[in-house]
Amino acid sequence: MNDSSSRVVVITGGSKGIGRTIALRFAHEKARIVILHYDVDESASESTLKMLSQRGIGAESHKVDVSSFAAVEGIFKDILSRFQRIDVLINNAGITKDTLLMRMTEADWDAVININLKSVFNCTQNVIRSMVKQRGGKIVNISSVVGQIGNAGQANYSASKAGIMGFTKTVAREVAARGINVNAVAPGFIDTDMTAVLPEKIKETFIQQIPLGRFGQPEDVAETVYWLCSDAASYITGQVIHVSGGMYM
Ligand code: NAP
Repeated sequence: MNDSSSRVVVITGGSKGIGRTIALRFAHEKARIVILHYDVDESASESTLKMLSQRGIGAESHKVDVSSFAAVEGIFKDILSRFQRIDVLINNAGITKDTLLMRMTEADWDAVININLKSVFNCTQNVIRSMVKQRGGKIVNISSVVGQIGNAGQANYSASKAGIMGFTKTVAREVAARGINVNAVAPGFIDTDMTAVLPEKIKETFIQQIPLGRFGQPEDVAETVYWLCSDAASYITGQVIHVSGGMYM
């Protein structure tokens, strides 16, 4: 079971996919894990909590729209009042609303920017004072290779992921002297619900753009995230680590 010396790890979008796999990776060190997710259907987050409990981890999940500053402020106040600290923040929640720019609505743009990018501000802003006070912390933001190279049909998504890269580097500079590491991980195409909706033909086209010739697994991303949060990576900050099978070099 966890004890009060275990790290407190908050993972947005931890109910499934990459976020769930990151949570399971932190279970190896018996971290105290808090998952934020938003779907009204609680079955994914319940499955994640069950998997963590089978590994002896007493985790919790909360239904919070991370694009709402007020909602995020409320949950972070609650977590900090109960645990007294947050050691690791993984900004992972994200959505896509893909369509060509000519067809993209203002609502498609706003939803993706708010959930993917504004959420990173909301969560980081609400955790940073406590990390500064405790003179340490790890923040990893999940970006995407398309934030660097672009992708037709993803103007909103690639802008949000490029924004995360700039945010990461700036905050890394602001808090480095306080012993806080802020990095981003940029996955390529990873096998999750997000990519499961792609037609097979499109997937085949994408695979041709991947030097390693296959989609990645959530574990590929989770290992990198976990390493960035370990002492082994304590001299790394403000970086964007690509986990994309070589799509970006
Ligand atoms: P996923 O399986 O669709 O999971 C997305 C997660 O985000 C879910 O836990 C979802 O929870 C949560 N979420 C969505 N909207 C939210 C909101 N408003 N508030 C709180 N939580 C919210 O996607 P994934 O593939 O694991 O993606 C995880 C991250 O990796 C995303 O940032 C994505 O952009 C990035 N990424 C993925 C790929 C890929 O190929 N899969 C590639 C590059 C980057 P609910 O369902 O409960 O709302």
